Amino acid sequence: MGQVPWARAAAGANTYDQQAHAVLPTIYERVGATTAARDGINLGQGFPDHDGPAWMRQLAAEAITTDHGPTNQYPPGAGFPDFRQAVAAHQRRHYGLDLDPTTQVLYCTGATEGIAASILAFARPGSEVLSFEPFYDSYGAMVSLAGAHLRTIPLRAPDFRPDVEALIARLTDQTSMILLNSPHNPTGTVFTRGELEAIIHATRAHDVVIMCDEVYEHLVFDDAGVSHTPILTIPGALQVAVAVSSAGKAFSFTGWKTGWITASCELVNRVRGVKQFLTFTANPAYQYAVTAGLHDDRGFYAHNRQHLHQTRDLLAAGLTELGFTTYTPQAGYFILADTRELTDLTAAEYSQKLIDDAGVGTIPVSALTHPSTQDDPHDELNYLLRFAFCKHPTTLTTALTRLQKVLD
Ligand code: PMP
Repeated sequence: MGQVPWARAAAGANTYDQQAHAVLPTIYERVGATTAARDGINLGQGFPDHDGPAWMRQLAAEAITTDHGPTNQYPPGAGFPDFRQAVAAHQRRHYGLDLDPTTQVLYCTGATEGIAASILAFARPGSEVLSFEPFYDSYGAMVSLAGAHLRTIPLRAPDFRPDVEALIARLTDQTSMILLNSPHNPTGTVFTRGELEAIIHATRAHDVVIMCDEVYEHLVFDDAGVSHTPILTIPGALQVAVAVSSAGKAFSFTGWKTGWITASCELVNRVRGVKQFLTFTANPAYQYAVTAGLHDDRGFYAHNRQHLHQTRDLLAAGLTELGFTTYTPQAGYFILADTRELTDLTAAEYSQKLIDDAGVGTIPVSALTHPSTQDDPHDELNYLLRFAFCKHPTTLTTALTRLQKVLD
């Protein structure tokens, strides 16, 4: 057995090293650790520096410390019945979806587990899995671990719209899965109903399962001109699609790792089969608190969106003033910034330089792309940095001041 090459991981490298057949530390870990070592400001990993609602924290604490039922022992593998009912009620209230909580909803330990279990359940070894790129990095690693091959279709600036025709053109008998993410990390693109309909329609002639990652469902900004369309509201989707979401982004509790999938009974059962050998189950107290949040967010979603809208605009204006070409997202936590007006370095190199010189951590988008894209020096995705704006305004202005000093 070779050594797992943690130390070898280059700043821009993908999480799965094809040659070494090894999983590397994620870019979030690498940027987080090097930024912390310099006592810097981490605008890399997407976690808010303010916690979610105090009343939900209180409920989780009470669940642990009072005799509130079995909230310190194994919950059921599929999640507490009340939790699954709350997910179903949330889907009905927000999207008009009618799901059976006992068979069509499954608790997951974060969206990450829902993604992993779905890919392991449906990506046949040797098959092809299609995704737009950049993509959330667990997709690439999990497809590799499943023994399948990731094929990517780029999202291009300035709008980062999905080229649905190009995706459909890549569908073959070899394709086992399509991985979608809307609202999308890191571009902020919200897929339209028409785009999703075209994808669902095209899969009818193929034996393909779609995983749609919807963790940013409540973070679409008022000026986006589009609202979130859950994949399962598209006619025909229930036969082929698994939707994944999480309380991490919805309630600003990324550390709670409390997520869920929704799908047909048949697809839920297949994911559940894999999931029982990942964590089996977890987080009884958080399930208890998230159950209440899903029934009634007490205005948190709107309040959080408003706050993020402001910090998005603050960071975008600051980065533009510094000379970056910035792309304002429709949703989510991140701004993409093209570095080419400022440097000849790749974004991976420049990200390291900004950590070293300014103490500001960012994610090079190349770490969220296919290795063949990373190897192409002309591909614009190698010159984009991802900045998180889910931070307090003073954190962002301090980071901008530090960057200003270095750029001067
Ligand atoms: N999917 C996407 C697109 C994400 O951005 C994230 C978190 N950054 C996740 C999944 C993981 O969610 P969780 O923390 O609930 O596992």
